[in-house]
Amino acid sequence: AALSRTADVDIKGGWKTGEPVPYAALTKTFALIEATTKRLEKTALLTSFLYLVIQRSADGDFKSLLQAVYLCINRLSPDYADLKKEGDLGLVAMNSKNSQRVLFKPKPLTLSFVFANLREIALTSGHSSQAKKVSIITKLLAACQEFEAKYIVRSLEGKLRIGNAERSVVVALAHAAVLAEKEKADKKWSPEKLAKRLEEGANIIKSVYSELPSYDEVIPALLKHGIQNLHEHCKLTPGVPLKPMLAKPTKAIGEVLDRFENKRFTCEYKYDGERAQVHRLADGTVGVFSRNSEDMSKKYPDLMEQLPRCIKDSTESFVLDCEAVAIDRATGKLMPFQELSRRKRKDVKVEDIQVRVCLFAFDLLYLNGEPLLKKTLQERRELLRKHFQVVAGEFDFAKSSDGETTDEIQAFLEQSVKDGCEGLMVKMLETDASYYEPSRRSINWLKLKKDYLAGVGDSLDLVVVGGYYGKGKRTDVYGAFLLACYDADSEQFQTICKIGTGFSEEVLQSHYDVLKPLELTKVRGDVKVGGAKPDVWFEPQVVWEVLTADLSLSPVYTAAQGLVEERGISLRFPRFVRIRDDKSAEDATGPEQIAEMYESQALAQSKGKKKKGDD
Ligand code: ATP
Repeated sequence: AALSRTADVDIKGGWKTGEPVPYAALTKTFALIEATTKRLEKTALLTSFLYLVIQRSADGDFKSLLQAVYLCINRLSPDYADLKKEGDLGLVAMNSKNSQRVLFKPKPLTLSFVFANLREIALTSGHSSQAKKVSIITKLLAACQEFEAKYIVRSLEGKLRIGNAERSVVVALAHAAVLAEKEKADKKWSPEKLAKRLEEGANIIKSVYSELPSYDEVIPALLKHGIQNLHEHCKLTPGVPLKPMLAKPTKAIGEVLDRFENKRFTCEYKYDGERAQVHRLADGTVGVFSRNSEDMSKKYPDLMEQLPRCIKDSTESFVLDCEAVAIDRATGKLMPFQELSRRKRKDVKVEDIQVRVCLFAFDLLYLNGEPLLKKTLQERRELLRKHFQVVAGEFDFAKSSDGETTDEIQAFLEQSVKDGCEGLMVKMLETDASYYEPSRRSINWLKLKKDYLAGVGDSLDLVVVGGYYGKGKRTDVYGAFLLACYDADSEQFQTICKIGTGFSEEVLQSHYDVLKPLELTKVRGDVKVGGAKPDVWFEPQVVWEVLTADLSLSPVYTAAQGLVEERGISLRFPRFVRIRDDKSAEDATGPEQIAEMYESQALAQSKGKKKKGDD
């Protein structure tokens, strides 16, 4: 079934081995993917296309597959390489298509030609760059046939809108590679064995990619060494930021002890700053990356300057997992995230910096040529402390306590809050349960925030998708907002609540300034609206951290519909905490997490009732 669609996605007459991939084959695939809502069919279509690309690539050619994958996820380079997004060029493209007069039939577009031109557009900057971009776009569009122009325009807009998330592209890539290898080796596998290999393949690529998130590295290795051997050839590499490990929320210390009973664990301060992954290559080059793999060296020139002082002589290449926290140098006191967020994000000059930062290192993932992900946290922590040193106000190790009783944890939690932290991170210390799990929200890391203890629950990160005009004094700004969570599986934003209380006039004004330019004339197709009726819709881009009193089932909103019940889940008394500009809309809280929160709250309530009954 995985290859059932090769005939459909191929172009008329096909293309020969070693010939460039026709762009028309990709856009034909896109059009078919867009026309179906069935996930399996979408994956089968993409698998069929990528399979053809592999089959028809000359030996040693990895570029065709690499560029095909990039165009499918609408990117031109790895995240950290920082090619600019071209949001505003969609319109330029649409207008120039209308004014085209074609005198002769141009040669059909190839995938590599389109890729090279999109890259050139992204790299063009400076004097008269807009004119240069327009001329490249005009040239491209003049050569378009059938669906091609539509997808070039969408690529330029930054959204393909075919309902194909990156994770399904990864699955299709794995399936295509397994099937092409099988064909080449002329293997006869039973359907069960084939199914097993396909599943294994997808897991291998997912896991390799979370450690080395760069198709530039993974795809050539995949073609050269085969999928089964990929792990040996694609390992964590300084300079390529890996996807960070994340934590699960807990509501009570009892829950922590239930989970970690009889296991060794450690509690660390949960610092209130910004995640920073610090890399040093063997040649001495240093990089700092955000939670989203963005290069932050321009934001933190001071960190770059501070860093050498904390590195001991025995340390050459490394990857550190840290939190960058605002600090008052005079008193040594930590300051909340709000202080840090006042710093400019780009082109910061060391001499202009008001808010200083201190790095708190909590993990060491790579040291002197060797990945440490599969060492225990105990071992990683020992290496961390051995190879780095504390520099007052600049670098320190995350404060930790390996205490084990409820009272000890409670005391450490209170201490952490007094010291300006959000609470604790509780982590498994030994056995394979303490290995570093890139990109996983793992049960082996639990977060215990002071807010949870007050019964408020974990905060959610939600996307602002709509606005309601204000009343009374607030008529010239939005007075309330429609929020949504993000479902990565269906690539949909699902509405979850209206939020409108607790904003000061000043805050409303600043939200208005940010959101007004994002107004849309109609709601986007990937917002599952339900019964919500905001006055205006926004491009889903801005993420807010929000707290809620509790969660309830709702006939109006669509979040997590079908997970707990047919009805969706909504927030009661939502409260705005802060803007999360380190998160993109796709990083917003997902429906599974919301369903989990709803269910654990229901469980807590029923336990509470039982207790009362027992009395
Ligand atoms: P997400 O879980 O989606 O990352 P978030 O970004 O809101 O949500 P939290 O879940 O609240 O973050 O907590 C995890 C974050 O806490 C880490 O990403 C890191 O930035 C920060 N952090 C602070 N101290 C530590 C620590 N000692 N160990 C691990 N993470 C820490």
